[in-house]
Amino acid sequence: MLSVGIVGLPNAGKSTLFRALTRARVPVAPYPFTTVDPNTGVAVVPDDRLDVLARIAGAERVVPATVRVVDIAGLVRGAHRGEGLGNRFLAHVREMAALLHVVRAFHHPEVAHVEGHPDPLRDIGVVETELLLADLETVQRRMERVEPRARTGDAQARAERAALEEAARALDSGRPARTLPAGVREALRPLRLLTDKPVAYVVNVAEGQSDGAVQAVRALAEERGVPVVVACLKVEDELLDLPEEEARAYRDVAGLGEGVLDQVVRTGYRLLDLVTFFTTESREVRAWPVPRGTRAPQAAGAIHSDMERGFVRAEVVAFDDLVRAGSWEAAWQAGKVRLEGRDYQVREGDVITFRFHV
Ligand code: GDP
Repeated sequence: MLSVGIVGLPNAGKSTLFRALTRARVPVAPYPFTTVDPNTGVAVVPDDRLDVLARIAGAERVVPATVRVVDIAGLVRGAHRGEGLGNRFLAHVREMAALLHVVRAFHHPEVAHVEGHPDPLRDIGVVETELLLADLETVQRRMERVEPRARTGDAQARAERAALEEAARALDSGRPARTLPAGVREALRPLRLLTDKPVAYVVNVAEGQSDGAVQAVRALAEERGVPVVVACLKVEDELLDLPEEEARAYRDVAGLGEGVLDQVVRTGYRLLDLVTFFTTESREVRAWPVPRGTRAPQAAGAIHSDMERGFVRAEVVAFDDLVRAGSWEAAWQAGKVRLEGRDYQVREGDVITFRFHV
């Protein structure tokens, strides 16, 4: 399972977000990982298509897709030099496939701020600067190893040196690695640069608030192509304790939007660049997340390794076609079910039956 890491300055609301995301719904199936680490949890990815499929398939159980969420504490100014929990922090970030960056926009006299008081744009800068500086160091260290080989004329080393030089220039002028050309990013992929990871900002506002600071974050994010979710995390967390009716009434009165946590999870899912396919076997409808571009046998392998090994073919119908037809049988009759082989790349919303030898 791919992981989304929650980062941000101390007291930005990371743990609050983590708690809210990982207890929003109780998973209905046992998940293939257990952990003793209290900072790692599982968030359920909301998907309205599951209930539709459950009705069509007469399923008794619905199992949503999930993503792993990790609360990564310990970032302060100087983290790249190992200050605070700096090194541990950076090592954790390196393992993540995408980041949710919590930005504090609420003011509260009793919740301290490491920089004195919250200033969303400056705070984003502090976090991103640490990541940039850590990357710059990684790039420079790699350069020292590659340079001698590049000087002997080794073509591969020269190509890598060129990519490293371009990355160093970008990082040095404050541009994250994800803004580099695709070829350069590809060449530097083994370095797992922190600023190459897709990121979204989660702006943590006071209840019902959306002030100038929030607009400023939105503007910055738009310029950078970074998704933004605005939420009052403390209230979102507290609302999870209320019965659904009461929570809804509260939302109406307070003017809070619906489903902010759902938005955060969906954004994380999108950052991971996953697509969802569905299975409707054995009275169970289930959503499976796989990286975009996954081929049919590997998709089958997400369900069980035997199914990948013995893969014969995939019977595939698009979600919309299945809904329109009303049943698998009708979809077959309408010629909407395709037989796909080993090279087929699974698409968003495919409903699949795998055939395999045991
Ligand atoms: P972390 O250090 O980033 O993990 O921050 P926490 O999630 O532990 O939050 C720090 C403190 O700020 C906690 O006491 C939270 O209850 C409080 N807090 C978080 N979000 C909000 C908010 O939206 N409004 C207010 N007033 N307090 C909040």
